[in-house]
Amino acid sequence: MKPFGRIIAVCLCLLLLPVFQACGRTEKTADKPTVIVTIFPQYDFIRRIAGDSVNLIMLVKPGSEVHGFDPSMSEMSEILSADLFVYVGGETDRWVDDLLRTNGQGLNAVALMDLVETVDEELSPGMQGEREERPEADEHVWTSPKNAIRIVNGLCDALCGILPDRADELRKNTADYVAELEALDEAFLAVMKDAKHTTVVFAERFPFRYLCDELGLTYYAALPGCSSNEEVALSTVSFLIDTVREQDLPGVFYIEFSDQKIANTIADATGCETWLLHSCHNVSKEDFDAGVTYLDLMRQNLENLKKAVN
Ligand SMILES: [Zn+2]
Repeated sequence: MKPFGRIIAVCLCLLLLPVFQACGRTEKTADKPTVIVTIFPQYDFIRRIAGDSVNLIMLVKPGSEVHGFDPSMSEMSEILSADLFVYVGGETDRWVDDLLRTNGQGLNAVALMDLVETVDEELSPGMQGEREERPEADEHVWTSPKNAIRIVNGLCDALCGILPDRADELRKNTADYVAELEALDEAFLAVMKDAKHTTVVFAERFPFRYLCDELGLTYYAALPGCSSNEEVALSTVSFLIDTVREQDLPGVFYIEFSDQKIANTIADATGCETWLLHSCHNVSKEDFDAGVTYLDLMRQNLENLKKAVN
């Protein structure tokens, strides 16, 4: 939707908001604040900090691609009436900028990218894509456990702001969770201490800049972080095949929701293995229903990283 159309639509929604509320949409939420989040990492972090003290809503449905997400009018009006809204704040969230500019005065909103230090997206050698004059900040800030800790602490502050009476409980939950994230972080660093290889290859888009930077990993990938599913050129695939051969790497990574086509092509050409590195953008419906967490996915990533660097 064009920004102008969206502004009109949002205004319309605001007019309709009392109607929605009169229909009872907020009845179940009367005693709890509503927190709306865009994607899975912040959903899982807040679930862990606040439990069922809040009505927590994830906008992007489990199993769906997060990068093309476009909220409906009723979702936008729900965001505007939420007690807290948590988004990432990067390229994929341009629609949030429009919403905040036009109707967001007074909205209690937190962007993950404001809670950490960001780095710009970059094209590694052999990566397909155009070098931009002004590169975008890389939005996949949650992929490093150290950043996850900063984000969780920031979200705890925001949650204490809307639930002042439960602040002690929220801070206790946060401290317990941060201890687990610290252990995860140490486990990643420990893997790197004895690593035989410090280069990893992604037969995919590359949303792991923050994790690789933290672990001192050199990376090669087919496409930048959030690029659309563009066709990967043969020359890009050959470059990755050459890299696996030259560095004698045991395998390559693919990411969640992937058809694994490029990873399998590289494996067929070199005899290497393929492993999943889950970027946690979103989880499948099945995983969501089973209650899979960021920690579960990252622990599984840790096991696969072990294979890749040894
Ligand atoms: Zn992304």
